[in-house]
Formats: sequence, C-alpha cells, structure tokens
Amino acid sequence: MDNKQTSSNFIKNIVTEDLKTGKRSEVITRFPPEPNGYLHIGHAKSIVLNFELADEYNGKTNLRFDDTNPVKEDTEYVESIKEDVKWLGFEWDNLYFASDYFTEMYNRAVLLIKKGKAYVDDLTAEEMRAYRGNLKEPGKESPYRNRTAEENLDLFERMRKGEFKDGEKVLRAKIDMASPNINMRDPVIYRIAHASHHNTGDEWCIYPMYDFAHPIEDAVEDVTHSICTLEFEDHRPLYDWVIQECEMKSQPQQIEFARLNLTNTVMSKRKLKALVDEGFVDGWDDPRMPTIAGLRRRGFTSEAIRSFCREIGVSKSNSTVDAQMLEHFIREDLLMKAPRTMAVLRPLKVVITNYPEAQTELLEVENNSDNPEMGSRKLTFSREIYIEQEDFMENPPKKYFRLFPGNEVRLKGAYFIKCNEVIKDEAGNIVEIHCTYDPQTKSGTGFTERKVKGTIHWVDASSAVAAEFRLFEPLILDEQSEQEGKTFLEQVNPNSMEVLQGYVESNLTGVKPQEKLQFFRHGYFNVDSKYTTEEKPVFNRIVSLKSSFKVE
Ligand code: ATP
Ligand code: MG
Repeated sequence: MDNKQTSSNFIKNIVTEDLKTGKRSEVITRFPPEPNGYLHIGHAKSIVLNFELADEYNGKTNLRFDDTNPVKEDTEYVESIKEDVKWLGFEWDNLYFASDYFTEMYNRAVLLIKKGKAYVDDLTAEEMRAYRGNLKEPGKESPYRNRTAEENLDLFERMRKGEFKDGEKVLRAKIDMASPNINMRDPVIYRIAHASHHNTGDEWCIYPMYDFAHPIEDAVEDVTHSICTLEFEDHRPLYDWVIQECEMKSQPQQIEFARLNLTNTVMSKRKLKALVDEGFVDGWDDPRMPTIAGLRRRGFTSEAIRSFCREIGVSKSNSTVDAQMLEHFIREDLLMKAPRTMAVLRPLKVVITNYPEAQTELLEVENNSDNPEMGSRKLTFSREIYIEQEDFMENPPKKYFRLFPGNEVRLKGAYFIKCNEVIKDEAGNIVEIHCTYDPQTKSGTGFTERKVKGTIHWVDASSAVAAEFRLFEPLILDEQSEQEGKTFLEQVNPNSMEVLQGYVESNLTGVKPQEKLQFFRHGYFNVDSKYTTEEKPVFNRIVSLKSSFKVE
C-alpha cells in the first residue's frame, strides 16, 4: 500500500508506552460502526486510525457491528459498510456482531444483580430524568433502588420473557446518585424493546444500552485499545466500572480523539439519512454526499481519502477541516494518472469555412503532458467543431483574449482559427460562428511567425460523443447558521448540482463507470456508475483544476 503515516500522535505514544512497559503484549483495535446508515468521511478517519495503528505493531483489527439497537439497523447498511471498509483498502482480522454477545451480556447483567450492583427500576423515563439531578445538584435515589437481588433476578428474567411492555421497566447499574459525573448516576443498562432485530430476529425483547454493551464487546474480543470520539470522555469511568464489576478477564483501555468535521457538509448518519429520506439527494451514494459511497461515485480514490485522513492527524480538540483539503489530495492523486482529454460542456458550433468539406484529419496529442509515459492519442479534426460558449464574445471587454470577431486563437493541439462571422437566429441568439483556419499553424510543426494570446479547447463535431456533465457545489450552505435556529435542512444548497449537455472527444466512446479523466480547463471528472449508458456517458466533476488551498 501507499506511504503509511509515520508521524507520531498521542494515541501511538500511549500504545508504544504500553508495549514498552509490558502493560500490553499485543495491539488489538476495532472499528465498531452501528449499522444504521452508510459510512462517511468521518468514519474513514477512525478506520485509517484503527487499522493502521494495529498494523504498525503487527496487531489485529476487528470490524464489529455495534448492533444493539434493533429499530434503526438494517442488513443493507451492514453490506454497505463491509464494502466501504474493503474499498478503503483495509482487511479486518475478524468480523463480529455485538448482537452475537447478547447472551454474554445478559449473563453479565445477572452477575451484577447478584452482586447487588444492578436493579430493576419501574420509574418512567420522565421520572428518571427528574430524579437524575443536574451538574449542581445530586440526584435522588429511586424508590425501587433497594429491591433484593432475588426480586431483581425474578423481574429481570420476566423482562426477558416479554412480560412487560416497552418502557415499563429498565435495569440500572447501582453506582452513585450523587456522583459529580452524571453518567455514573445509576445509568440504565437494559431496556425493553419489542422489536425484531436484523440479526437475532425476535429472540430478544430486552436490549443492552451502549455504555454497558460496548466495554463488554471490547473485552470479549480482547481489544487492547478502544478508540472512540471525544464525547465519550465523560463515559470512561462507566466503561471502566462495567469492565471491573462484570469481572471481564480482558481489560481494554478507552482512548478518545477528536471527531472529524468538514466545512459545508453534515456528518452524522441521522442527518445524512434525513437528506436521503427527504429527497434532497439521490440516495446515500449521491456524489454530493460526504459518505464513502458518495465520494467514490463522485470520483474520489481510496488513496486520496487515506492520505487526507493521515494528513489531518489525531488530536484531542475538535475542529473543522476545510473541505478543500480533501480536494487537494484527489488532485494530487490524479495529476499523473488521469488522461487529459477534451470536453465541451456548453457547446457553440464553429464552422471552419476554408476547411475542405469532406476532409477529416488525425492530430496526435499527448495524453498527459506531466507524464509522458501515458503516451499519446489521435484526435479527429474537420470542418465543424464545438467550442465553449464562454470562449466566444461578440463584444468582448478589454483583456479578453479568446475568440471574438476579427481575433485569432489557438485550438489546443490543432490550428489557429480566426472569427469572421457571427450567425444569429431571428431572435438575435448566436447559432454558430464562422471562422477560417491557417494550415501553416498546425500544432507541433514549430510555427512561430505569429503569436496568439488565447488557447481554447474544442471537440470535432463530426465524431463528438454527446455526454452529460454534472457539476457540484457544497451541499450545505453554511453549517454555522444551524446554531442560529435554522435546521440543517433549511441550509441545503438549492443549487448544489448543475446538469449540462455537451460533447466529449470520440476517444471517450465506451468509457466505463468510475473511469477518471481530466477535461482541459474544467477539472477532474469521473464516469457516473448509475446514469451512464452505452449511448451516453454521464460525467461527475470531482474537482476543478485549481484551488487556493495549500497544504504545508
Ligand atoms: P454518526 O453520528 O455519524 O452516526 P457515530 O459515532 O454514532 O456517528 P458509529 O457508527 O457509532 O457512528 O461510529 C463508528 C466509529 O466511527 C466510532 O468509533 C466513532 O467514534 C467513529 N466516528 C464516527 N463519526 C466520526 C467522525 N466524524 N470522526 C471520527 N470518527 C468518527
Ligand atoms: Mg451512532
């Protein structure tokens, strides 16, 4: 694989120290997504971190589906997550489902009850909230807190058997209602949910809560370093409490790092799902989505995403990364790889009146001027061509060096042409323009007698392939204004996609989905995997050619 991250970070320092002091003899990490949506670029940060960290120490990484919440989970998500992790370039050592440990978790809960460390509570969710207290005031103990172990065992067993309705009872850890850490004020560890589970079907009607399930999952798998995002920092005492009181043999260590946020997008499965469900985008893999599937369909490569994840690094403070930084890495990756071809996105027909009518010639052009190894190809040239509408102006301002009446420009890889006549329809719209070419100015022949200031791209009309182009703008206008009371759905950019009908050169006949190309002056494009047909390719613009963003 490509260059691994070699720079240090605080998590690596912990791991190195643990191995040096003998606290650990191996490194086992896990990537634990909940299968309630598609993975996004934030997950990629966690994936790269977990897999590469273990890899560096010859350790192991598990892919574990944290599927303890039956209602939102689905096998479609399980499959997409597997595909995305593989596509990102990683192989898990083991594939696990948290739901495979439901019996283990149940037995550990029974152990807590027997030890007097858990009790069945009848308070409603609302009452429990009122009893919990707040940061200034301690909580109040539930009247059910001192049930005997026998009574709790009986009630918990009956919860499992389905004798109670959702919400009627919960199992709570018995810790400390006066703890300054609210997470330690007798957290709920099991709830009743009469719902079918994607993996265990109707076998269970009680489900463990995340804070109870996660440490057990980690311990069962002998995970050594359990890496999660910062919002779980305050939950760490509970994580450690569960490991200890449940008498787990393995003692994983939770380490928190800052989650990735990107400008002008949203990065939570809940919000991304809303964009899909409300029809703002064309599915989870819409090229505007920050999902791995969306980025892939847009044309991002896994190499670029991995490089990006390494570059942003790992820290303890939350920040927002400029989306242009991600774009930097795809430009860098495609610079030498993508063939440079010609496409006209908003066509204007040009008739070259002095070019013989029945003639077509072949012009040899390089495939990538920065990478001679990519060789060359032939372009057809004939009497009619297409240029961009914006490369012609009837009444140009000063310093406009492209085509206008009386002016001469260079056609990239071909000849100089000069505009002589503008043809309009009755309404005054320009229909086509008439030019003449100078046969002496053929590209590559060393013509130097005259110079022109403008070079424009073109496509030969006689062999052009009709194509669709999709250009994108950020999906979310300004994520900040959400704090000003606007929902993120009100911040969706109504102009996030522009669809254009134009032409590409004939060499692109039969392009295959996911082929990546540079179109001169327009940027890097990817052949869309959903809408491309044999007759008509659809190209998604990955990025334009230039950006002001610099990575140090
Ligand atoms: P979401 O709100 O998007 O659903 P999540 O944290 O609930 O995020 P999980 O499926 O539970 O999603 O996440 C799996 C792993 O990916 C977790 O270890 C989580 O910490 C990590 N992760 C999720 N989002 C990000 C992010 N933006 N940056 C870094 N890591 C993330
Ligand atoms: Mg989640």
